[in-house]
Amino acid sequence: MTIDLRSDTVTKPTSGMLQAMMAAKVGDDVYKEDPTVNELENRLAKMFGKPKALFFPTGSMANQTAIKLHTNPGDQVICDKYAHIYNYEGGGASFNSGVSCKLVDGHRGMFTAQQVEASINPPDFYHSPLTKLVEVENTTNKGGGACWDFEELIKIKQVCLKHNLGYHLDGARLWNALVAKNETPKQYGELFQTISVCLSKGLGCPVGSVLIGDEDIMQNAIRIRKILGGGMRQIGYLAAAGLYALDHHFERLKEDHDKAKDIGKTLEKQQWIKKVELIETNIVIFELNDDINETEFLNKLKDKQIYIIGMGSNKLRMVTHLDYTSQMHERFLKTISTL
Ligand SMILES: *Cc1c(COP(=O)(O)O)cnc(C)c1O
Repeated sequence: MTIDLRSDTVTKPTSGMLQAMMAAKVGDDVYKEDPTVNELENRLAKMFGKPKALFFPTGSMANQTAIKLHTNPGDQVICDKYAHIYNYEGGGASFNSGVSCKLVDGHRGMFTAQQVEASINPPDFYHSPLTKLVEVENTTNKGGGACWDFEELIKIKQVCLKHNLGYHLDGARLWNALVAKNETPKQYGELFQTISVCLSKGLGCPVGSVLIGDEDIMQNAIRIRKILGGGMRQIGYLAAAGLYALDHHFERLKEDHDKAKDIGKTLEKQQWIKKVELIETNIVIFELNDDINETEFLNKLKDKQIYIIGMGSNKLRMVTHLDYTSQMHERFLKTISTL
């Protein structure tokens, strides 16, 4: 039995999902004639109380499009030092939009309205890049699946309004936050101008992200997607997976969170552990004692067909997901308590 806890992206479509994909009605989505894609986009737009939604092959492309929609070359984006758009999108913000990032020194990938206010360059000081956009991530990836305090997001919105800044949410794992904090998509739709959500993380789809937003700002989204090479044809097969996942794989995210918390509790009892970070959703980040070699530790797990990710400086990451079953969970907990 292989136990793969490297990411929640390693899941494979369930048979129910495959059946839904096979049965999808499709058309050419470049002509907006794919009924299943249209249905998914309409459903997500409605869910978030927004007029527009657009399907993307990846979350990175959805975020990159959002950045382009909010900015002009030379502008600056405020985001956390841990932000996915800064660390894990291949430098796309500078490559695609010609913008720089002003990094906020946040806590677990999250920051305060005060920190945003302090990061804004005065617009009449033409020596500095023009601040145009605030980007937040919920849940945070590098921050260990942490969930934002919604009140702080409201305060940041007020700063954005005051300074005429765009407000984008990288909601690749927003589904996890909604379940963990008992929040609604509409709350987020009211706050942000644009929101990207992933179908291929906790929801278990093979592909797909959706960018949701206001009418005016989304007008150009389909053109940017085309420029980035994301205009696709009969992708109703992929959208059908998304529709199926919203029906069947959303509420169950709680199981992933519970398993992650179990893992945390077991890890905390081990003397080879220095620290386990707070677990709020499906990501577990922990630190090994200084006398333990990270590579050796990872290899030891590999010998037992257990795969997790090393993040450097003796920090390791595990992510629970749809394909991490109760049997695997039992075996995994037993294994870590007897290492
Ligand atoms: C996974 C992820 C994305 C999108 O990644 P893709 O691999 O391009 O789909 C964006 N933001 C965050 C925070 C993520 O975890």
